[in-house]
Amino acid sequence: MGVLFGPVLSRRLGRSLGVDMVPYKTCSFDCIYCELGRTTCKTMQRKSFLDPALIIEELKERLAYLGGQVDYITLAGSGEPTLNADLGDVVSKIKGLTTIPIAVLTNSSLLSDPEVRRELHEVDLIVPSLDAAEQDTFEQVNLPLEGIRVEEIIEGLVSLRREFRGQIWLEILLCQMINDQPRHVQHLQKAVEAISPEQIQLNTVVRPPAVQGIMPSSPERLAEIAALLGSKAVVVGQHCPAASQQGISYSRSLRKRIIEMLKRRPCTLAEIAQSAGMHPGEAHRLELVKVLDEMVQSHLLKVRVHDGQTYYQAQSEGEGDLADQK
Ligand code: SF4
Repeated sequence: MGVLFGPVLSRRLGRSLGVDMVPYKTCSFDCIYCELGRTTCKTMQRKSFLDPALIIEELKERLAYLGGQVDYITLAGSGEPTLNADLGDVVSKIKGLTTIPIAVLTNSSLLSDPEVRRELHEVDLIVPSLDAAEQDTFEQVNLPLEGIRVEEIIEGLVSLRREFRGQIWLEILLCQMINDQPRHVQHLQKAVEAISPEQIQLNTVVRPPAVQGIMPSSPERLAEIAALLGSKAVVVGQHCPAASQQGISYSRSLRKRIIEMLKRRPCTLAEIAQSAGMHPGEAHRLELVKVLDEMVQSHLLKVRVHDGQTYYQAQSEGEGDLADQK
């Protein structure tokens, strides 16, 4: 079924096993910096997308396979996870299955709904976003569904703080000149004071954004803003000029892992993405397709079709493992 991704090594959450709670890309926002690409289903309507029992079945199998070596089960995915109307049921069922803490990443847009906050009661950690505290900047950065008011989001976050007993790590993603200027920070300071999270995490545009030309805030500006927001603020994302170099070594290690995996058995694209711990979102899948294409072009892999399915196989392995290839 493939609603799980990872575990991925997260700077903030350690070994995080992700649960994709909504189909790609169902969200109430269309953030200019989103690394999943543009929102294709912009909505505030909560819906049942998957039978919670199937999610739990898949989780049970994956945790058994991983021997419980997971630091967080993270409800996130290809859009806004709180749009899943079965959120509360999924959380309760995970709590009945394991003691591994649950984290939820949210854009905060549904937190003004008391029912959504109630469904989050049993969670251990909530990482809500708030990128701007005034309506014009909020609209510029997050391109929300019409009618969403940032004051209501802030009120929802304040209520969450009052009612929720777990940790809240507020995430603020800063884009150069768009929401990192003094007037933006002044408004954010007031909101942060009212929300009183355990931590404030400052992030910036590290991966290719949905809208071209959006630039990351400089490390100096991030450090200045962290100092203005007080001792709870930490910088978690930094754009690094050597990122392209890191990208090269990342894809080198990814290539190595793919070859190791495909030496043992041919796999489909979905199986490779899952074993490599890749997020199932479209943008990440496209990245993987590019890497696989390059590997086929350079004769490291070959493509074979078996029973209507396309498989990738390491070129060095013997021919004919797929007897029924067409
Ligand atoms: S960054 Fe998150 S909230 Fe913003 S559009 Fe992407 S999935 Fe939605």
